[in-house]
Amino acid sequence: MKSVKKFLAIFLIAVMAVSVFAGCSANNKATETKATEAAKADSIDYMPLVNKTHKLPDNWEKNLNTVTMTNSIKDKVEVEKKAYDAYLKLKADLEKEDIYVDLDSARRSVKEQQRIMDDFTKEYGADYAAKTVAKPGYSEHHTGLALDLYLIIDGKDITENEDMIKYKDIWAKIHEKLADYGFILRYLDGSEHITGYGYEPWHIRYIDNVDTAKEITSKGITFEEYLGTYTGGDVTVDYKEKDLKDAVIQIKCDFAFWGDCELKSIRYAGDKAVTDKNLKWLNKVNPDGKYKEIAEFLMDFHTGENTGDTTLMSNHDYKDYQWWLAKNSDGGWDIVTKGDSASE
Ligand SMILES: [Zn+2]
Repeated sequence: MKSVKKFLAIFLIAVMAVSVFAGCSANNKATETKATEAAKADSIDYMPLVNKTHKLPDNWEKNLNTVTMTNSIKDKVEVEKKAYDAYLKLKADLEKEDIYVDLDSARRSVKEQQRIMDDFTKEYGADYAAKTVAKPGYSEHHTGLALDLYLIIDGKDITENEDMIKYKDIWAKIHEKLADYGFILRYLDGSEHITGYGYEPWHIRYIDNVDTAKEITSKGITFEEYLGTYTGGDVTVDYKEKDLKDAVIQIKCDFAFWGDCELKSIRYAGDKAVTDKNLKWLNKVNPDGKYKEIAEFLMDFHTGENTGDTTLMSNHDYKDYQWWLAKNSDGGWDIVTKGDSASE
């Protein structure tokens, strides 16, 4: 009887293990990035994802056509050509309902962003600059497809964010029409953990496809979710590329076997953790690995009563728990080390 129980227990564990891994691989498939339509030779790709972790693709600007307009406050604004045509149609449509908008800013080149970064660095130091200025290459405004609107109300230009945000009803009417002209609202309310930005009713993004814009809008999802770069559910995942997504799956699979623990979020710690020093360190931790690529992730989780691991405190909120992974010779990720203060 005892051995039957033992057998049953082993069997159950095996079933659980299989289902966890089955879930992991299914998850992997379900979250594969939807291929963005390949750009035609003479046209730009209108679907690039540019955010805090996705850089503007190299050579993306090769076929970029822009126009420069002058807005009501006499600023020059550069916009991608088709996006501008669509914007003019949207604007005309809105005017039928006595809603008046103008363009605050649209395209900022990587060079211009670098200049802003340099100015801030000189003035306030590198730390402050890194916190306040979007990293050159990582702003959607580089594309010319991201448009910041401002409102004109009773003939008055309302350009300050804190003033604009008060006009909820007007924004709602604007947002209703976006998809008809191939635009989406980019930074949705309550999606900061996905987009990296708080709610911005004025920042719209042209994607050159009315059907897709309507699909995204009707589902109420972010561009990241539409493209499948966000796998989250109730968990925040902030990886950079497919590679890092695979790494997150490894972590989730490992974590699934931890006792009474609730996962809150996993974040890629950023390229700054990828240093020669850390590479050397991980190769020292596992000399057989012969690693060349490494990544650090930070996890927030909560432990319950019985963690099943003596190194973890019970009933505790863990923040920035470190996971160090490295690419093995098969191209997969090894979890090399992890812990509360795992770094060198
Ligand atoms: Zn913007």
